[in-house]
Amino acid sequence: MDKQFFTKQLLKWAKTVDRPMPWKGEKNPYFIWLSEIILQQTRVEQGLPYFLKFKKKYPTVHDLANAPEDEVMKLWEGLGYYSRARNLHFTAKNISENLGGEFPKTLDEILKLKGVGVYTAAAIASFAYDLPHAVVDGNVYRVLSRYFGIETPIDSTEGKKEFSSLANILLEKKKAAKYNQAIMDFGATQCTPKLTDCKRCFLKRNCQAFQNGKVFELPVKSKKIKKKTRHFNYLVLNVNGNVWVQKRTQKDIWQNLYEFPLIETETLLKKDVLSKHDIWDDLIGDFDYDIKHISTPFRQQLTHRTIIGTFLEIDLPSNFSIKKNTYIKVDRKNLSKFAFPKIIDLYLKDNSLNLYSMLQDLE
Ligand code: SF4
Repeated sequence: MDKQFFTKQLLKWAKTVDRPMPWKGEKNPYFIWLSEIILQQTRVEQGLPYFLKFKKKYPTVHDLANAPEDEVMKLWEGLGYYSRARNLHFTAKNISENLGGEFPKTLDEILKLKGVGVYTAAAIASFAYDLPHAVVDGNVYRVLSRYFGIETPIDSTEGKKEFSSLANILLEKKKAAKYNQAIMDFGATQCTPKLTDCKRCFLKRNCQAFQNGKVFELPVKSKKIKKKTRHFNYLVLNVNGNVWVQKRTQKDIWQNLYEFPLIETETLLKKDVLSKHDIWDDLIGDFDYDIKHISTPFRQQLTHRTIIGTFLEIDLPSNFSIKKNTYIKVDRKNLSKFAFPKIIDLYLKDNSLNLYSMLQDLE
């Protein structure tokens, strides 16, 4: 297989492509790092407004380091994979406080940063400093496995080694940034997962997958991940327009985001069963309560699990309070100041309409 042909053709193609992105050609490692963290497991269209918001709000690594964590989480709200936001903040503090604000300049040093894996480190090293490290992301796996007809599973240790070594052989070492950008652009616009326009591809003559009718069989993945469903029953405990929220601090999804008191169950439960749950008893105890409304279930799809969220609006007397001090009492009007998971935002948006129309009905 002519590896030189592949690299040469790819770089030639890149000259004809106009895919403007605000981080393209960027040499400031802080902005490159920011964009790479935002774009991990996120589509460009979704990540772009977040990159612009972060860049504007925190123009230097010191600005990000000095921001309160809740503010960073709020700005990240809706983007998912919240551990990225926590690592982003942690790393900004580390760079600002321990490295004098200087971004590390070698691959090994960049790899030591929290939240930075092999792909992100290679991207920063090549884009910011033109260091000869090939990136291997989903686009690169797809393009290489198809063009070279490689059937080794990309999620196996063997596959990772094989693709990484091939990517580094193909890399045009003196033009690392350009080459890495070119192969990623090619995967994102031409050799795409579903709508692959092979007939018009300049590589089709040497492309093994095209020649052997295997385009949609590659790349190969060995593990099929089973999706789990979790049922979240949220208790929206109302006392004169106030409700209670708490921060999710446990090692689980949505760490450091806020939520209403939660009873997690294996299946969707009826209110009579829920009201006998230990957590219900701990929260409400002997207080008189009135379940005003039970929402229809909301759904949020995460990579490995589906979350079904149901919200119970429960009125309680004015002397009610939650004993546990992890809960914060909040005026409903101020809920928008907190960073919530998407499922709660969906409920609040829907619910605010209901409340609004209820108020109008009363007028
Ligand atoms: S011919 Fe099709 S599968 Fe092969 S590199 Fe081109 S777009 Fe990808």
